[in-house]
Amino acid sequence: MGTAVSKPLSAIVVGGGIGGVAAAVALEKVGAKVTVLEQASEISDVGAGVWITANGVKALEFLGAHDYVRETSNATQSQHYLGFDDGRRLIRTELGERGRRRYGAPSYLVHRADLLAALSDRLGNSPRVGSRVVSLEHTSSGATVTVESGERFSADLVIGADGLKSVVRQELFGIQVPHFSGQVAWRALVPFERIAGLGLEPDSQHCWFGDSRAVVAYPLRHDLIYNFVGFVPAHEVERESWLRSGDVDELRRSFSGACTQLNGIVNAIDEAFITGLYFREPLDKWTVKNVALLGDAAHPTLPTIGQGATMALEDAVSVAQHVSQTGRQSVSGALEDYASHRRDRTVDVLTTSRTNAEMMTLADPAAVAARDQRFRAMEASDPLGGELYGWLWSYDPVSQAV
Ligand SMILES: Cc1cc2nc3c(=O)[nH]c(=O)nc-3n(C[C@H](O)[C@H](O)[C@H](O)COP(=O)(O)OP(=O)(O)OC[C@H]3O[C@@H](n4cnc5c(N)ncnc54)[C@H](O)[C@@H]3O)c2cc1C
Repeated sequence: MGTAVSKPLSAIVVGGGIGGVAAAVALEKVGAKVTVLEQASEISDVGAGVWITANGVKALEFLGAHDYVRETSNATQSQHYLGFDDGRRLIRTELGERGRRRYGAPSYLVHRADLLAALSDRLGNSPRVGSRVVSLEHTSSGATVTVESGERFSADLVIGADGLKSVVRQELFGIQVPHFSGQVAWRALVPFERIAGLGLEPDSQHCWFGDSRAVVAYPLRHDLIYNFVGFVPAHEVERESWLRSGDVDELRRSFSGACTQLNGIVNAIDEAFITGLYFREPLDKWTVKNVALLGDAAHPTLPTIGQGATMALEDAVSVAQHVSQTGRQSVSGALEDYASHRRDRTVDVLTTSRTNAEMMTLADPAAVAARDQRFRAMEASDPLGGELYGWLWSYDPVSQAV
């Protein structure tokens, strides 16, 4: 770990989501004075779960947020890939104690509000909410952002952690429309007792793969609630309804024909909301002078690898350590080094998320049979999932931050 900067650097973080708050905590930890500007009226996230794998947990440890997450979340024991229509088991990956030893940390099934609370708890300086950044200027000593009210904030460096539709990214590189994947995600939380009798393995993530659709589901808050994410082709959902809660009958139609366990979960859902799934092609540059992008603002990926938030946590550790090593002398150089250090890994994650999206929703029977056979063989030869994900989960974002 780098040494703390001697003369405090000032930093503005645009966006108080998981990436922005993590970046602020990390920068404070290396001695910077940080202001987080968040457009919403409070620091909060959608009511849904997020899987934080071992690589992300190592970042949480650095940020001082691991204990909170451990106390509020289910530690993952296993991950199951299953057939959509008959529930046939394709592979079970062991992620309990053996997984923890193999990957260097546990992984957790976390409520997003708990993850944000765990991070926010570590912040010295409270975020300024209701502060929507509308423009950015480079200055001789750093950068200045202007919020909707006209108020201006200047600092030695600015981190754009403002998500998929990042204003900071647009200010740096112009308008670039994200790619729509053609799929939407139905997201729901149900009381755990409604699915408790379905015989699902405790503390585990269950993923069902079907023709053009897939589901990822898991428990949260020590089995208080159960998280459902169902991926379906966008044409199965009325476009206009994306921004409001979806019609649950539509959800049920998309998942008709599911196996008994999955059907039991779908029937337990009373209300759900819809998220369109977007990604962007990798950016060559994430920085201009003393301004850098982080998290979804830099590299929005598909959720079919469960890594977007974790990549933002890794970015946060990396940017802070790069800045702390260089200090005020070369903020722009430190940000460029951070970006080039993080780029290949986030490109690999994006590529794998796209391959996974195809693999999870295969329709052609021959391709389905080949996939299933491959996974069944791997269960014996690779019970901890290292062949597929060792490169991802073993990574230590703290010791490999720079
Ligand atoms: C269905 C689904 C499931 C997922 N599952 C997982 C998972 O299991 N594991 C995982 O690691 N990742 C997962 N992800 C990805 C993860 O949610 C994102 O990658 C992560 O939330 C990105 O965090 P962020 O802070 O970069 O961006 P965001 O969460 O988008 O936060 C951006 C913040 O910036 C604020 N903002 C935006 N514009 C401005 C502005 N102009 N001024 C001020 N503030 C602004 C926003 O209000 C917001 O608070 C999933 C995503 C989806 C859609």
